[in-house]
Amino acid sequence: MLNWPRIAPFLALAWLLTACTPTAPLAAVPTAALPSATPAPSPTLIATATPRPPTATSLPQATLVPSATPPLASATPEQAEPLRVGVQVGHWKIEEMPDEQQRLRKASGAYWRGYDEWELNILIAERVQQQIEAAGVVVDLLPATVPPGYRADAFVSVHADGVTGDAAAVRRGWKLAAPFRASQASTALAEAVSVTYPAATGLPADTRGASFDMRAYYAFSSYRYVYAIAPETPAIIVETGFMTHPLDRALLFDETERVARGISAGVLEFLASYDRADAAARQPRYTTMLRSADGGALRTHADANSGSEAMLEPGQRLVPLSELRDWYLVTSYGIWDIGWVLKSDVVMTDEPLTPP
Ligand SMILES: [Zn+2]
Repeated sequence: MLNWPRIAPFLALAWLLTACTPTAPLAAVPTAALPSATPAPSPTLIATATPRPPTATSLPQATLVPSATPPLASATPEQAEPLRVGVQVGHWKIEEMPDEQQRLRKASGAYWRGYDEWELNILIAERVQQQIEAAGVVVDLLPATVPPGYRADAFVSVHADGVTGDAAAVRRGWKLAAPFRASQASTALAEAVSVTYPAATGLPADTRGASFDMRAYYAFSSYRYVYAIAPETPAIIVETGFMTHPLDRALLFDETERVARGISAGVLEFLASYDRADAAARQPRYTTMLRSADGGALRTHADANSGSEAMLEPGQRLVPLSELRDWYLVTSYGIWDIGWVLKSDVVMTDEPLTPP
């Protein structure tokens, strides 16, 4: 098992970049990075979106989180349980996090003019729930605290980003990530939503791509926490857009149905080709190192035209984290830059993964 928490010092910078940092293990709670005062968008921006605060009646009556984990592959086809999806409202009831995650209790995420991130996340997540349930799938609407070892056919954590200062007028777009060492199923889920989300919303991708913290999201970190999903649960975390950017915000608050459809369509597409009996597809992957062949660049996205995070030395050791189409997501061993490399530019070794 990789010892990710030792990379924690590198996470501190990521915390400062966006307000919605999805709370990776051992990263210090960045109270200093959270906006302490109402950000002040220009007056022209204010008129573009008038978010409606969720009313008390719009909140779910009860979380209805099953304390027991639902069966996955144990039932025969005749007795099979209905498909089940966990939709997590990022930061919802964050103050109720269990003792093992108490450092996260103040991690309220992004913020814009009096709205905490969870208030937007729940608007989106409730619609995702309705849309998926309409297809006959059972949905658990989950707060920040995940039921221990939560098992489902898919788990989607819904978040939104925010930045302060001048960056608020510039930084925008969506991103998503599967856990480190993503299973084939998690990768398939990520791939499906990464197509349906931009198609439904028209939002651009965040040029900086998914962060290390997203992949090390606490709810994915079963090696560290009891209150985490089972490693076999296919999972992604979605940053739906920047609530601090006027265009993103207008869409997120005023066209929430469409935003939710971008997520639910991908989840349903994933489930349509999902084989619950294929346990191997749900196992976390990778046990050996990669090495860079001739060098090349670590890209910000699985796209040859995206920016480069770092240049690689020939033969440089790389820890595989995930993959998408022709690309591996890797972190460079000892340096811990993270980015995408073409599969054709690396070789899989038989060197065991050494904990970073
Ligand atoms: Zn968040």
